[in-house]
Amino acid sequence: MDDKVKELLDRVRDTAVGAADAANQTARAAGKKAGQMVDVAKLNVQLFDLNGEFSEVLRQLGQVMYDTHKGQEEDGEKITALLARADELSGKVEELKERIAALRQSKACPDCGAVCGKEDQFCRRCGRAL
Ligand SMILES: [Zn+2]
Repeated sequence: MDDKVKELLDRVRDTAVGAADAANQTARAAGKKAGQMVDVAKLNVQLFDLNGEFSEVLRQLGQVMYDTHKGQEEDGEKITALLARADELSGKVEELKERIAALRQSKACPDCGAVCGKEDQFCRRCGRAL
């Protein structure tokens, strides 16, 4: 492996700790909104878009790697920004997958809209028969 690429990978590794923190913060912020009722189909559209964006960021990171291999000066800020974006998107994708899974296991109360378990006989919030 060339030294330039090795240096680049060292830099990528060095950003990993901070990036994990950023991803956790994103997941926590998203978790607060998890109680809202949203349609699974809408979430699947969001998931599709996020996955597309995530792939694009990974493609750009690959491009930086190859450019470095070809002898181009690496752009540290660009790499850091791309890695942060990748972590953010990855966190959002995981969070969305969890929400979709949770919604598939649930049903909404027709009166108050509360999310209840699929097997629940009565609404957990208002007590209406389901
Ligand atoms: Zn209810």
